[in-house]
Amino acid sequence: MSHSKDKITIETLLSKAEGYIKEKDELEKIKEAYLFAKEKHSGQYRKSGDEYINHPLNVALILTTIYADSETITAGLLHDVLEDCDCTKKEMEEHFGVVVTRLVDGVSKLSRIHFSTDNDYLIEYYKKIIVGMSEDVRVIIIKLADRLHNMRTLWAIPEEKQKRKAKEVLEIFAPLAHHLGIHKIKSELEDLSLRYLKPTVFYDIAEKLNKTKVERDRTVNEMMQEVSDLLNDHHISHEIKGRAKSIYSIYNKLDRGKKFSDIYDLLALRILVDTEQDCYLALGIIHSKFRPLPNRFKDYIAMPKVNMYQSLHTTVFGVDGYLFEIQIRTYQMDEVAENGIASHWAYKEHKDASKLMQNTTEQKLQFFKSIMELSQDKMSSEEFINSVKEEVLNNNIYTFTPKGDVIELPRGATPLDFAYKVHTRVGETTVGAIVNNNIVPLDYQLQNNDIVKINTNKNAHPSKEWLNIVKCTQTKNKIRGYFSKNEKEILMERGKEALEKELRKKKCSIQEFYKEENQKLVFETLKLDNLDELYLEMGNGKYSPISVVRIVFQPEEEKEEVKIKPVVMKEDSSSDIIVAGIDRIKVSLASCCDPVYGDDIIGYITRGNGISIHRSNCHNLAMMEERCVEVAWSNTPASKYEVSLILYSNTNENKLADIIQKTSRMNVNIDGVKVVSRERVIVYEMEAYVKNVDHLEKLLLELRKEPYIVNVERLMQ
Ligand code: MN
Repeated sequence: MSHSKDKITIETLLSKAEGYIKEKDELEKIKEAYLFAKEKHSGQYRKSGDEYINHPLNVALILTTIYADSETITAGLLHDVLEDCDCTKKEMEEHFGVVVTRLVDGVSKLSRIHFSTDNDYLIEYYKKIIVGMSEDVRVIIIKLADRLHNMRTLWAIPEEKQKRKAKEVLEIFAPLAHHLGIHKIKSELEDLSLRYLKPTVFYDIAEKLNKTKVERDRTVNEMMQEVSDLLNDHHISHEIKGRAKSIYSIYNKLDRGKKFSDIYDLLALRILVDTEQDCYLALGIIHSKFRPLPNRFKDYIAMPKVNMYQSLHTTVFGVDGYLFEIQIRTYQMDEVAENGIASHWAYKEHKDASKLMQNTTEQKLQFFKSIMELSQDKMSSEEFINSVKEEVLNNNIYTFTPKGDVIELPRGATPLDFAYKVHTRVGETTVGAIVNNNIVPLDYQLQNNDIVKINTNKNAHPSKEWLNIVKCTQTKNKIRGYFSKNEKEILMERGKEALEKELRKKKCSIQEFYKEENQKLVFETLKLDNLDELYLEMGNGKYSPISVVRIVFQPEEEKEEVKIKPVVMKEDSSSDIIVAGIDRIKVSLASCCDPVYGDDIIGYITRGNGISIHRSNCHNLAMMEERCVEVAWSNTPASKYEVSLILYSNTNENKLADIIQKTSRMNVNIDGVKVVSRERVIVYEMEAYVKNVDHLEKLLLELRKEPYIVNVERLMQ
C-alpha cells in the first residue's frame, strides 16, 4: 500500500540533472550511486510503504531544484547508506571517492544523535551542525533536503512524532535554511511544520486564501498592469510577478492578533529587471507615480543582508489606495534570494562552486563565524546553547505595540525593556503594563508575539529597583543615565534633541536656526528669555518641535520640496486636509487629540484605513514617526470640528447649567457635558463643536473668565 504522490524514477532525476550538468561522467556517477543505494537499501521500506530508495531519490531531486553539483547529488542518493546499510566508508570511498564519502559521513553524523533531555538534544544538534558546516556546507544543504522530504511524507508516522519533528524543523532547520538564504526550502519547511503542529489553523488559512483569491488577484493584476505600462513607457525591460505570501507568514501575523482582512491590505509585487542600474531607475519611476510610504524604502542592493540577499524594497500607495509592498531586483539577485548560498551552483562562470560556497559561508555569513567562535570558547553546554540561540540563531522574541509595530527584544526582556525600546520618554514614565489585555507586573517576562501596552503617567519617574528587573544592557544604561541627572536637565536635553532632530528632518540648517536674529525671533514669538527655557518648554511638551522650527523656517520653503498636490477626494471623505503628494487616500481626524481646523497637524498612515490626522504635539505619535506624513489644511474647512475639553472648577457646587448657557451664547454646539470628578471640587468634561482654532481659542478664553473656573484644557487621550 502506498499513498505517495512523490514516486519518481532515476530517469526523472537524470533529466532534471541534465538540465544543468553537462559532463557525461558526472551524470554516470549519479546513476551509479542510484544503483548502489538501491542495492544497499533493497528489502527496506519507508513508513509510507514505499521502497526505501524512493527517499534518497527524492532528496536528490530536491537538490536539483537548487542546482546542486553532481557530488552533492551523488551524496544525496547515498546519504542513508552508511547509517542504515551494510556498507563501510572504505567501500564507499572506493566507488565514489573521498569527497562524496565525507559528505555522506557528515550527514550520517548529524542523524546519529542520542539525547536524554530536550536541551542535550539541541546542544548536540547545534554542535554537529557547526562541525558539518565548518567541514563542508554542502553537508547541511543535503540535510535540509533530507528533512524536507521527510516532512513531505510526515503523514506516515504517529501524531506525537509528527509534532516533535515539526517543532524541531521550526527550531533548527527553518532558521538554518534562512541563514543560508535558501528561501525556497525554508518556506516549504515552515508551511509543512505548521500543517502538523496546528492543522486546524493551517487549513483554515488555506481555505480563506482560496475564498479571497479573486478579489486580491483583481487588485494585484490592475497594479501590475499600471506598473508594467509605466516601465514600458520608460523602456525598461522587466518581468512582474504577484507575490504569494506563505501560509506560515500569514499565520505569524494572525498570531500577533491581526485580522485576516488586515493582512491583505498589504499586497505584494516583485519586479525583475536586467541590471542593477535598472533597479534604481525602476524605483524612481515608480515613486514618481505612486507615493512611497515614508521610511519604508530599504536598499539591500548597496547593503546586502548577511545571508547575501539583495533587493530594493519599497511600499507605495497603489491602485484604490491599497498599500503595495514592492521588491525590485535583477534576475541574478532573485536567484540568490531563492537559493541563497546554493545560488553559486547556478552561475557556472565560477569554476569551483563548492569552494566558493565554503568561502562565502566563512566570509559572508557572520553568524557562521560567531558559531565557530562560540564552539571554541570553553563554556558550559547550557551557556553554549543559550549563546547559539541568542546570538546566532537570532532567537529574539518579537513583541508588538497595540498598533502592530514590531519591537524585537532578547528573551527574558520585561515590559520596561519594551517601553524603553519604544522611546526613552515612554520608559521613564512607565507606571504599568498590559500584555494581551491582562495587567502584568513590571518584571513579567515577555513572550513571543505578546502585544504590549505601556501605561504612562507624565509625572512618573524611574525607580532604582528597575535596574534589577530589566534585561537589556541598553535599558540599564538609560536608567542609570536618568539617575545621574536631575529632571530639569533631562527635559532640556530632550527638548534640544527633539528640536535638532526636527531641523535635520526638514533639512533646515541647524547653524542658521541658532543665528542671533533667529533666536531672538523665537524668544519673542514664544515669550521666552533664553535657549534653556525653550528647550525646557519643548521637553515638557508645551511647544512641538514642528511649531518652533516653523517660526524660523516658513513652511512655504518646504512646500516646493514636498510638492503638495490638492487631494481628489471621494465623496464620503472629508476634503479639508491636503496630504503631501498623495491623492486618492482616505483621511480621517484622530479621536485621541481631535484636531480642529487651523491646528498644527500631522498625518499618521494607518494600516488599511488611510491616513489619520493628529495634532502635531499628540503624544500618540511620539513613537510612530516613521509612519507620519506631512499634511496641511486645505482652503475648504468642514462646518464644525469636535473637541473635548476638561474644565476644572473651584467649587463643588454644580455649575452645569451655567456652563451650557455660557457655551451656547458663544455659538458653540455642545454634544455633552459630564462630571468626571467631584472629589473636592467638580471637574467637567465637555464635548463641543467649534468652527476652527480661533473659535476654540475664544471659547477657552470666555470659559476661563468665569469665576468658578480655574482652568480649561483641551483633552488629549
Ligand atoms: Mn534520509
